[in-house]
Amino acid sequence: MGRYFCHEHPEVLSLETRVIDARPGAVVLEQTPFYPGGGGQLADRGILRCKGGEASVTGFEPAADGRFWHLLGAAAEPTGTVQAVVDAEFRTMMTELHTGTHILNALVFQQFDRALVTGAQLNDDRTARMDFDLPEADNDKLRALEAGLNDLVRQDLPLRYTYVPLGEATAQHGLIRSRSVAPPPGDDGLIRIVEIVGLDRQACGGTHLASTGRSRPLRILKIDNKGRHNRRIRIGLQG
Ligand SMILES: [Zn+2]
Repeated sequence: MGRYFCHEHPEVLSLETRVIDARPGAVVLEQTPFYPGGGGQLADRGILRCKGGEASVTGFEPAADGRFWHLLGAAAEPTGTVQAVVDAEFRTMMTELHTGTHILNALVFQQFDRALVTGAQLNDDRTARMDFDLPEADNDKLRALEAGLNDLVRQDLPLRYTYVPLGEATAQHGLIRSRSVAPPPGDDGLIRIVEIVGLDRQACGGTHLASTGRSRPLRILKIDNKGRHNRRIRIGLQG
C-alpha cells in the first residue's frame, strides 16, 4: 500500500498537475487525486482535461516509484499540464459505503468474539458485502446490528489516521482485521491505521468520511451463510 495523495487530501477531487510519462491511452501524473482501488473499494472514476479536450479515466495500473498509470477511455496521449478531476458523486458513495463497512466491522468484532473479516467488496449500486469468520453466530442477532450502525452514524464520531510499523500492527489482534489479506506496508515499512475515535482501530488503505455522521443511514439488506465458517452481510446506503 503506497501513500496516496488522496490519503492526505481526501477532499481534493480536482487537481492541476503534469504528465510525467505517457503511452497511447495511458499517463502517469506527477500528483493525482485518484484512488486506484484496493481493499474491496472500487477505483475512482473521472476525467483528465487537457489542451484540446478531455479523456475519461477508466482504470489504473501500477507504475514505477509508487505511482500508477491512469488508463484513458480514448487513445489520447495528453502531455504537459492537465486537470485531473475525480467523479465526486462516485467517490462520495464509495467513501460512505467504506466507512459503513468499518462501523459494521467494529460492531461484529466487539459483539461476536473478535471475529475477523474474510472478504469485502464495495459495489457501484450503493451496496457492499462483508464476509466474516462467524461459525456460531445467530443471523437474527447479526440483523439486529442495524440499529447500532445507525446509532454510531448519529454519534458523528471523527476518523483519524496514524502509521505504525508492520510488526506492531501484527502483534495486536484485530488491528489487521482481515484474515486473508494484510495491507502491504509502504516503502517506509509503516502500515496506515484508520481509527473511528472511541470505536475502532484497524489497518486500511481506502478512503473514509471525516466523521460517521456524514453518512446516510445504513441498512442491513441480507445475511447469507457461505460455507461452515463464513457469514456474508450485505449493507446498503438508504436513499
Ligand atoms: Zn477503510
